[in-house]
Amino acid sequence: MPSSFKTTCCYCGVGCGIVVHKDRQGRLTVEGDKDHPVNKGMLCSKGMNLHYTVMDTSDRLLYPEMRYSRNMPRQRVSWDQALERTAAVFSRIIEKHGPDAVAFYASGQCLTEEYYVVNKLIKGFIGSNNIDTNSRLCMSSAVAAYKMSLGEDAVPGTYDDIEQADCIFVAGANPAWCHPVLWRRIEAAKAANPKLRIIVSDPRITQSCAMADLHLQLHPGTDIVLHHAIGRLLIEQGKTDAAFIRQHTEGFAKYRDMVMQRSIAEAAIVCGIPETQLYEAAALIGESKGFMTMWTMGLNQSVVGVHKNLSLINLHLITGRIGKPGCGPFSLTGQPNAMGGREVGGLSNLLPAHRVLDNPAHRKEVQAFWGGRELSAKPGLTATQMFEAMNDGRLKAIWIMCSNPLVSLPDARFMEAALKKAKFVVVQEISNKPETLQYADVILPAAAWTEKEGTMTNAERRISYLKKINDAPGEALPDAEIICRFAQKMGYNGFDYTHPSEIYNEHCRLTAGTNIDISGLDYSRLREKRSIQWPYKAGKGTARLFEDHRFYTASGKAAIHSFDDQNNSEQTDGNFPLVLTTGRIRDQWHTMSKTGKVSKLKQHIASAFLEIHPEDARERGIRQNDIVEIFNGRGKVRVKAQLCTTIKQGVVFLPMHWGKILNSDLNRANNLTNNLVDPISKQPDLKFAAVQVVRFEKP
Ligand code: SF4
Repeated sequence: MPSSFKTTCCYCGVGCGIVVHKDRQGRLTVEGDKDHPVNKGMLCSKGMNLHYTVMDTSDRLLYPEMRYSRNMPRQRVSWDQALERTAAVFSRIIEKHGPDAVAFYASGQCLTEEYYVVNKLIKGFIGSNNIDTNSRLCMSSAVAAYKMSLGEDAVPGTYDDIEQADCIFVAGANPAWCHPVLWRRIEAAKAANPKLRIIVSDPRITQSCAMADLHLQLHPGTDIVLHHAIGRLLIEQGKTDAAFIRQHTEGFAKYRDMVMQRSIAEAAIVCGIPETQLYEAAALIGESKGFMTMWTMGLNQSVVGVHKNLSLINLHLITGRIGKPGCGPFSLTGQPNAMGGREVGGLSNLLPAHRVLDNPAHRKEVQAFWGGRELSAKPGLTATQMFEAMNDGRLKAIWIMCSNPLVSLPDARFMEAALKKAKFVVVQEISNKPETLQYADVILPAAAWTEKEGTMTNAERRISYLKKINDAPGEALPDAEIICRFAQKMGYNGFDYTHPSEIYNEHCRLTAGTNIDISGLDYSRLREKRSIQWPYKAGKGTARLFEDHRFYTASGKAAIHSFDDQNNSEQTDGNFPLVLTTGRIRDQWHTMSKTGKVSKLKQHIASAFLEIHPEDARERGIRQNDIVEIFNGRGKVRVKAQLCTTIKQGVVFLPMHWGKILNSDLNRANNLTNNLVDPISKQPDLKFAAVQVVRFEKP
C-alpha cells in the first residue's frame, strides 16, 4: 500500500519538516511538510533530494568487517565477532593504560538517543570523559558565549521572531546557501515589511548580500573590532537602554570604557570598511525595535570565537533587545542535532541536561541516576586534542561515529598521520566512501535516515521526532543499538533498552530541575505532537526565553563581558601573504558522503575551486580557470582559479567539502588550515590560514 510519513530533515540545524511518500514498490519521494512550524512546506535543494540518498544503496556498508593487523585485508564477520573483539581490545587497553586511553568521536548528525547512550557508556561506565563530536567544529564558541553571558547554553529566540524583527544583522554567515529555508523566511518577511533592514558582515559578497541593505565587507578576523565600534556608537548616540542595563545586566561600565579606547576612524581602518558604514550599521540597529543577530562559522570557527560571539551578544544587552518579540541573538546551527547532543551532555566538558563536569554535585546526581562508576572530574579530550593525543601515543583507541574527520578537521595531514598511529580504530558508518575507513580495524555498518527512529533538536530548541520508514540494507543497525550491544559485551548494566523511546524517556527524567527541563515530556507525547521547544513546563513548550529578563546566571543578570579586540590567528607574511578562508557551497553538505551521491546536486558546482580577487591573480599571472596551487607549510591544494571581485583583495576562498578523489587529496581545503583553537571553546580557527597561491605548471 502507498503510504506517507512525517519526519524531519537530517541535514542542517534549521530542522525542516518532511513528508516521505512510499509507493507500492517501496520507492520513496519527499516533499516539504506544509503543517510544520519551521518550514511551512518549503525545502531547499538538499532536503528536496534526500530520498535519493536513501534509495541509492550502492555505497552502503552492509556487514561488520574486521582485521587483525593493518597489513591484512578486512573480512566480513558477524556482529557478535566484531563487538566481542572490540570489547576485548578496549578492555585490554583500559586495563593497561587507564580509561583515558580510549575515546569516542561522534557527530551532530547522531540522534539524541545515540548521543545519550554513548555519553552514558564512556562517562558513566568506562570512566573517562573522552567523548567529543564534530559539533566542536560548529557551535562550541557560541555555547561558551551563551553560558558566559546568559548563564546557560540557550538560544533565546525562536524562528517566529524573524517576522517580528525590523533589523537583522547576519554576521559571518551565508544563510542564503547554508540555511536556505530560514533565508526564504527572511526574504518573505522583508517582502511583507519593507522597513525590515538586513545587515551582513562577511569578507565575501555572498548570495546573502544580495538582499542586504548594508554589507560590511570586513577583513577576516576583525569582527570584534566591528562589534565594539557599533557598541561605542550606540552608547555615544544614546541608543542604549539604560533601565535594562541597570536592572538586568552587569559589567556595562567596564564595557563602555573598553569600547571607547578605539576610535571609529581607527576601527574602520582595521576592519577595512568605510567609516560611514559603521555609523550606518549603528543607526539601523539603534533605530530598530526588533533587533536580531544571526551567525555561524565566521564567528564560531575562530581562535577568538568566544569573544566574537560575546561582542555580538553585548549589542543586545546594551540595547535591551533580548527576550522580546523580534529580538535576540540567534546562533544558527550547522548540524541537525548539535543541540540535542549537548542536551544529553555529549561533549568532553559536559554532563547530561547541561550539567557540568567541574561541579561535584552534578557528577554525583548523574552517577546516582545511571548507577555506574564514579564520574571523572577530568575534562575529556576535545576533537583536535584527540588526534594530538593519538599522535603522541596517549590515546590508543578511537571509535568514530557518523563523521569524516579526515576531511572536516583542520590540518588534515596531521590528523591522518595521527590516525595511522592509533593502535585500534573503530568506524561506525553508513557509507563506504569516507576517507577514515581505510584506517579502520573494525567497521560497523549503521542505519541511515528513515531506517531508524528517534529525536533531534534544531537551532530554535525544537525537539522533533524522526520516524522509521524503511529497513536498513544488509545487517546495518541503528547507532544506538550498536553502542548498547557493545556496552553489554563490556559487561555493563543499564544498556538493555528494547526501543529508542526507553532511552529518550530516561533522558527526559534526567533533565528534571535543570534549565532545560523536559521531565514532563515523554516519547509518546513527542511522537504525537511531532515537535516542541524546550524547556517543557506545565504541558507546554517555550518559544522565547528570558521574557521576564531573568537570566540563568547566579545573580539573575546577564553579563556584559569586556575584552580587547586582539585576534591571535596565524599571521600572514612575505612567504604566505594571503588569508585563506573556507566555507560551504549551496548544494553540498559537509564532506559529501550523502549529497555527493546525488547527481542533481552536482549541477550547481561540480568540483572544488579557488576564489581569488583579480588583482591578486594578476600579480601572480593567474587567469580564469587556470589550475593553481595553494600552499603553506602544512600542505597544498590544486584546483581551478575562479577570478571574482566578490572576494576581498588579499583573501582567497576554498570550499570545505571535497576530500580524496582517485587517491589524490589535492582538493581538500583542510590540508592548509591550522589547528589553533579558541582557548575557551577549543573550536578550531578554520576560517583563517596564511597561504601563497601560484599558477600550477605541469612538470
Ligand atoms: Fe534540510 Fe536545512 Fe534544507 Fe531545511 S534548510 S531542507 S533542514 S538542509
